[in-house]
Amino acid sequence: MTSLASVPRPRDQIQGARPPSVERLLGHQVAASLIETFGRTAVRDAVREDLAAIRARAEGVPDEAAILAAVEGRLSELSRASLRPVFNLTGTVLHTNLGRALLPPEAAEAVSAVMTGAANLEFDLATGERGERDDHVEALICRLTGAEAAIVVNNNAAAVFLVLNALAMRKEVVVSRGELVEIGGSFRVPDVMARAGCRLREVGTTNRTHLHDFDEALGPRTGLVMRVHPSNYEIRGFTAQAREDELGALCRARGVPLAVDLGSGSLVDLAAHGLPPEPTVRAALAHADLVTFSGDKLLGAVQCGIVAGRTDLLRKIRKSPLKRALRVDKMTYAALEATLRLYLNPERLAERLPTLRLLTRKAEAIDAQARRLAPEVARRRSDRLGFP
Ligand SMILES: *Cc1c(COP(=O)(O)O)cnc(C)c1O
Repeated sequence: MTSLASVPRPRDQIQGARPPSVERLLGHQVAASLIETFGRTAVRDAVREDLAAIRARAEGVPDEAAILAAVEGRLSELSRASLRPVFNLTGTVLHTNLGRALLPPEAAEAVSAVMTGAANLEFDLATGERGERDDHVEALICRLTGAEAAIVVNNNAAAVFLVLNALAMRKEVVVSRGELVEIGGSFRVPDVMARAGCRLREVGTTNRTHLHDFDEALGPRTGLVMRVHPSNYEIRGFTAQAREDELGALCRARGVPLAVDLGSGSLVDLAAHGLPPEPTVRAALAHADLVTFSGDKLLGAVQCGIVAGRTDLLRKIRKSPLKRALRVDKMTYAALEATLRLYLNPERLAERLPTLRLLTRKAEAIDAQARRLAPEVARRRSDRLGFP
């Protein structure tokens, strides 16, 4: 008690007083203007919450103006969007924690065009009959990748899961030990396989896997051979991998589908833009039967996962009830379609697709921008950031 008594109380706290009633506070002029902005229910609830907090603190009762100021604070906090724009100053163009790819304005316009009204999502305007939602992007994906067919699901993790489950449930999936990776955010290839109902058949070693390792593992129990692009790590030194063309030929000869999880899966040759090479979807499909890749990594569109490849395999996948559970909505198709259309004009892609534009910026331009921004950033966040 003695120590508490020695703490000076703020001047506006009235000792021993009872808090005012909710009705009394709502009768104030200030409350009326809050009600105008936030609505009566929200203001009344905020007043109740604040009074409850005052009682819980048991430190005396602030005057009514102070209570209403606190109520206003609560209401503004409540009406503030949690998800909001930020500056990405990390230097990482595709940052998962900051929302990955920045969409081109064409995609934003396409989304806003379909989001507040009806759209022909599953309606074929040419025949007047029911349509397929994948129809809006399938032909574009096929044109840009050389695939026979394609579908879109929630993300690439879902795409991989769906392929495994639809094509290899209760069967073996043959994978090289060097590709049993964790992509981050708890996407671990062996765990995904187990959850999809597949039995993992590891072949080779961490650093070396040969064609004969696959050859020996293939048998009547095999449902699928899978390759996984080790997106975020590298094995160097004494290494070996089965060649893609040879593995493709082996799988074809044995009648087992070959699926490649490309992760990022670029649609264009990045080396032609002066960037480190990444396997393209088209190149992978030259030997694989199916390819899975993300919509919001190098492709530069919205979060989704794409499965592209052989028509007969995609027909099986489409029939899976999981396809329905993992499907995406009209906004995703709108954004994806508009972004894919930019690829039809490859000459202007680096200027129109934000992901490629940012990845191909010259170091001098980035340096100049950093120098321009640094003083302002330092001024505003001197408490949090240091600049040399
Ligand atoms: C990123 C990645 C995934 C997961 O893709 P999401 O779109 O994030 O679900 C799966 N496999 C590989 C190889 C990846 O790089």
